[in-house]
Amino acid sequence: MDAVGSNMSAVIGDVLGKLEASVRDTADYKKTLSAASGELEGSPADIRKLVEGLIAATREMEQRAKSLEGELQASSAQVNELRDKLDNVRKESLTDPLTNIANRKAFDDAVKSAIEAVQHDGEEATLLLCDIDHFKKFNDSWGHQTGDQVLRLVASCLSENTKGRDTAARYGGEEFAVLLRGSGLMAGAHVADQIRQTVETKKLVKKSTGDVLGTITISIGVAQFAPGESAETVIRRADACLYGAKHSGRNLVIH
Ligand code: GH3
Ligand code: MG
Ligand code: MG
Repeated sequence: MDAVGSNMSAVIGDVLGKLEASVRDTADYKKTLSAASGELEGSPADIRKLVEGLIAATREMEQRAKSLEGELQASSAQVNELRDKLDNVRKESLTDPLTNIANRKAFDDAVKSAIEAVQHDGEEATLLLCDIDHFKKFNDSWGHQTGDQVLRLVASCLSENTKGRDTAARYGGEEFAVLLRGSGLMAGAHVADQIRQTVETKKLVKKSTGDVLGTITISIGVAQFAPGESAETVIRRADACLYGAKHSGRNLVIH
């Protein structure tokens, strides 16, 4: 961000410098014209010389305007390139690098705007907290790197079952969160169960060795945002449901 910001300042400083030079050129040109108008009396030869001088000054002015145009076009291209970079930096800052879905920061932002919509527009919104079952055991059996692949797989199952204004995010470690906009508790529980089923039906095979790793399951707690309640409260409620799902045998959705 810092690098892009200071590049942007440099480009803008450069453009301002060029514009100032152009203003000075125009002022000089104006002086030449004013001086010429005071010299309009004289022999035809004098006038001819004067006109030639004016043509030369005009040509030079035209040349400078053209080169300024070229320089400004180059600066504009640089600004566009920097804007794209800034856009990428912004996206990166909101994306979890391992799974490529929204990260915790993006999720927190999405929760804030959902709370606004619930409170002020009477919209429905529902939160799903998902946690992989016995993931420690999976890592211990197959290694952390294979565990990472499973995190990617679960993330893709979440993306597969969400759309539009919903946000699927890696909440931390092996926990994921889904924010459903415009969905109440029962619709949310339904999506949660679809996600749960999508995960449980994936057959895990280690590509490099062909080892069959079996399947994994996830447990999900579901809570609907009530008008006026804080993020902490709704998250605590979803977390209590998740805890209930774990204690009722896992691979379950509780709302
Ligand atoms: P439970 O069903 O109760 O959730 O059991 P669990 O083993 O999934 O829960 P526990 O909290 O005991 O362990 C979570 C495990 O998740 C431990 C840790 O190794 C693993 N984990 C957390 N983050 C990552 C990660 O980024 N990559 C990998 N491979 N594993 C991770
Ligand atoms: Mg956990
Ligand atoms: Mg777990």
